[in-house]
Amino acid sequence: MSASTFRFDNTYARDLQGFYVPWKPASVPSPSLLFFNQELALELGLDPEVLDGPEGAAIFAGNQVPEGAEPLAQAYAGHQFGGFSPQLGDGRALLLGEVIDRLGRRRDIMLKGSGRTPFSRGGDGKAAIGPMLREVLIGEAMDALGIPTTRALAVAGTGEPVYRQQPLPGAVLTRVAASHLRVGTFEFFGARGETQRVGQLADYAIARHDPDLVDTTDRYLALLRRVAQRQAALIAGWMNVGFIHGVMNTDNMTISGETIDYGPCAFMEAYDPDAVFSSIDHGGRYAYSNQPLIARWNLARLAETLLPLIAEEESEGAVSKAIGQATEVIDAFPEWYAAALLNGQREKLGLQGGEGGDDEPDRALAADWLTLLHQHGVDFTLGWRRLADAACGDEMPLRSLFPQPQTPDAWLARWRSRGESEGGPALAGSERAERMRRVNPAVIPRNHRVEEALSAASEKEDLAPFRRLLSALRRPYDETQDQAEYTEPAGAEVTACYRTFCGT
Ligand code: AMP
Ligand code: MG
Repeated sequence: MSASTFRFDNTYARDLQGFYVPWKPASVPSPSLLFFNQELALELGLDPEVLDGPEGAAIFAGNQVPEGAEPLAQAYAGHQFGGFSPQLGDGRALLLGEVIDRLGRRRDIMLKGSGRTPFSRGGDGKAAIGPMLREVLIGEAMDALGIPTTRALAVAGTGEPVYRQQPLPGAVLTRVAASHLRVGTFEFFGARGETQRVGQLADYAIARHDPDLVDTTDRYLALLRRVAQRQAALIAGWMNVGFIHGVMNTDNMTISGETIDYGPCAFMEAYDPDAVFSSIDHGGRYAYSNQPLIARWNLARLAETLLPLIAEEESEGAVSKAIGQATEVIDAFPEWYAAALLNGQREKLGLQGGEGGDDEPDRALAADWLTLLHQHGVDFTLGWRRLADAACGDEMPLRSLFPQPQTPDAWLARWRSRGESEGGPALAGSERAERMRRVNPAVIPRNHRVEEALSAASEKEDLAPFRRLLSALRRPYDETQDQAEYTEPAGAEVTACYRTFCGT
């Protein structure tokens, strides 16, 4: 029986009254299930037999609210491109509730595109098929790459058009997240001077994401530190796969450390630190190499909301001490980020830990490799992947990525001697290559492949390219024959013109 398929336990609805508006999803004319994530459903302890059919279509399109759900629109604010919007909130999303998954983790189940809410402002509350399937593809790719992310449980077609530049088929995404707490959630109450509510929210976040801090003194400062450390690891993960989020507004930055809101995001092809794909990011605020700087900026906005709690009392002395403590955390972010980045780069380079505690030589080795890729317009993903081949003596595939086959010689010599200098038993080339292939993907969501899959789905109701691409993205480290078509970059002319749009 479908009614009990979700075992909801809704702490947000229960514990945070005043932080949301209870609301109902809109009804749609003709629900159909376009995508259902079997594996994730099992992880969540759901019954795929019930959900992967008409029942599921009705639930995931918003026509049937499952038993135990308490749909609500969350309030949040956000700094968007640097400017503060005091009231954003779920304008086209509804939290259905929370379930405990098979590993005991609490997960949010949210509909996106389920109609207008009190936070919709001028928007229609709807979503089109293309951007929702895009969220599936990129989210599943990120998950397969081991990067923390929200995930898609389902996409349901609604059978009604949504009006953008032209009418497009409508859809609703069901998204699963460790929580939907954002930096912007704190800003919403912080900006109103509602310190008691910020405290309530912080305690909720601590109980949910950092339960070991519950009874500690200085827990608000500790929360800030944890969020900063999670974000440092996350952004390093993005950087090491060439991911550009595209709209790192504070309302799109989670407390949990998961990537959220796949709008105008894209994976870089030829390595370029200045890469920007978003059509609205004119100043390059959210360019690839700016991401760690923006993360830190966003964390400073979170810190500001927490200051009155960190200070404990309102005296000038207490406040300035709190500012000092929070600043220390924000100032430590670049170090945490650099350490996480280097860890990942070492793995990608097939190297073990640092030599004698000095990270500089490895940091320089990685930086010089990236400079080489940049100077010669080499594809980021293929560059790393072919370096794995070079580790076991097969250098031609790597050399052929450069204009002259000998271009990487000097760098390769340095890399080899660094590998040989490692303490412990010498690593056989094949073993090093194998390890490198487990961290350097062959398949990423290439922009032209993503667009191809989405336009077939949106314009021709043909989901086959989407399904094929999704199955390739779920095995990013396999370079079998059937993966070959997904490993190649688009022509440079395609990438040069590639623009992404906010998925509204
Ligand atoms: P996003 O850029 O998608 O993260 O959204 C930023 C804000 O705009 C959030 O408050 C969204 O809920 C809201 N929003 C985006 N698209 C729509 C839409 N079609 N209808 C209503 N609100 C929307
Ligand atoms: Mg958003």
